[in-house]
Amino acid sequence: MQKHFKVVIIGAGAGGISLAAKLSRSLPEGSIALIDPAEHHYYQPLWSIVGAGLADMKDTQKNNKDLIPQGVVWIKNAVKEILPHENKLLISDEAIQYDYLVVAPGLRLCWDKIEGLGDNLGKNGICSVYQADQVNLAREMITNFKKGNALFVMPPVPIKCAGAPQKIMYLAENVFRNNKVRDKITISWATAGKAMFGIPTFSKPLQELVTQKNIKTYFQHKIIGVDPLKKLAHFEVTDNEGQVTKQSLPYDLLHLVPPMAAPKFIEDSELSFQEGDQKGWLAVDKHTLQHVNFKNIFGLGDVTGIPNSKTGAAVRKQYPVVALNLLAMIDGTPLAAQYDGYSSCPLITEIGKVMLAEFGYDGKLMPTFPLAPDVPRRSMWYLKKDLLPILYWKVMLKGRG
Ligand SMILES: Cc1cc2nc3c(=O)[nH]c(=O)nc-3n(C[C@H](O)[C@H](O)[C@H](O)COP(=O)(O)OP(=O)(O)OC[C@H]3O[C@@H](n4cnc5c(N)ncnc54)[C@H](O)[C@@H]3O)c2cc1C
Repeated sequence: MQKHFKVVIIGAGAGGISLAAKLSRSLPEGSIALIDPAEHHYYQPLWSIVGAGLADMKDTQKNNKDLIPQGVVWIKNAVKEILPHENKLLISDEAIQYDYLVVAPGLRLCWDKIEGLGDNLGKNGICSVYQADQVNLAREMITNFKKGNALFVMPPVPIKCAGAPQKIMYLAENVFRNNKVRDKITISWATAGKAMFGIPTFSKPLQELVTQKNIKTYFQHKIIGVDPLKKLAHFEVTDNEGQVTKQSLPYDLLHLVPPMAAPKFIEDSELSFQEGDQKGWLAVDKHTLQHVNFKNIFGLGDVTGIPNSKTGAAVRKQYPVVALNLLAMIDGTPLAAQYDGYSSCPLITEIGKVMLAEFGYDGKLMPTFPLAPDVPRRSMWYLKKDLLPILYWKVMLKGRG
């Protein structure tokens, strides 16, 4: 096996494949390696819709072998460790040498931080649309739920797609209404945050929405554990003076979203921020996406320690920046491309309606369309459900935008 590449990309997800496709048009065949152990690639933004029974899981999945661009070498393995002083990384017992490295392995779902969960995910009323093998189970539990307490949980940010924990709640509420069981179900939203969304433009209409839909809200409630036998979810509750107490909420159906972190081989390495808000995440400059200490390393996607919102939409804006800056480095010219923090969260407020939240660093609104962004619209539902998946597979993963 070839052991030295001009560019090595870790992770064949949304970021890794798009970047490999774009770079492969500028660099010679065989000079780029993409490392990922996974057989399949997933379009995760559809998982909430699958969870509500409105799309098929198979439409979110393709084989990596069919997506990895021609001329790019796929190393089907997991990276164990990066040795940045030696321009080298370790997979199994082998070392791969790189001139330039792009780190794009996504993030880690920290199920182990939910005490008492054990192997109860996907059974006993506990579900999640955040993991590929759980989405269809969540769909079954939500569509078959008839009565009792349905509790939806939002952990502390950063998480990927911070809107998804409430999207699945609004969809479930609609499913319960369609199934004529809504009046037998109490829906509750328990979030570690202080509001329905981090940006007031969107949190205000969302607050009105939960009131109108008769959804109980619990703010500053951080999920810490579950008791699957007693069907209780345990929270750490922080009041406005910073006092911390504990509270348990009952559930019959629990949609769980765990805290998230960078993959261990990044979090535990000198490549991560060692302190501050972004502690543990990949230490890159928030505009150039270049590593702050190792100039031949770039970061892309969910793994990056930048104050944006972690989404595929953010990746769509980041990968051209990484491509241009990496090629500039190879040419010995200054890094001119800058990422502005753009992210987008198509907030599904009911079946058939989406409020398209688009924003950059510091919560700056960045709407694509000349329309009031805080209004749920049918047109945006079709954009989210039908058009964006096509653009993802046919344009973004081809490195064309
Ligand atoms: C339920 C849900 C709803 C979402 N909704 C939206 C939405 O509406 N809009 C939106 O824009 N985004 C949404 N997202 C977020 C979006 O899917 C992610 O932000 C995006 O996929 C991040 O891309 P990435 O390339 O950083 O990581 P990923 O696409 O997750 O890919 C990471 C890849 O790295 C690989 N990898 C991991 N560890 C290693 C290793 N050690 N060695 C080699 N390879 C490794 C993995 O196998 C994987 O293939 C949603 C996500 C979820 C879960």
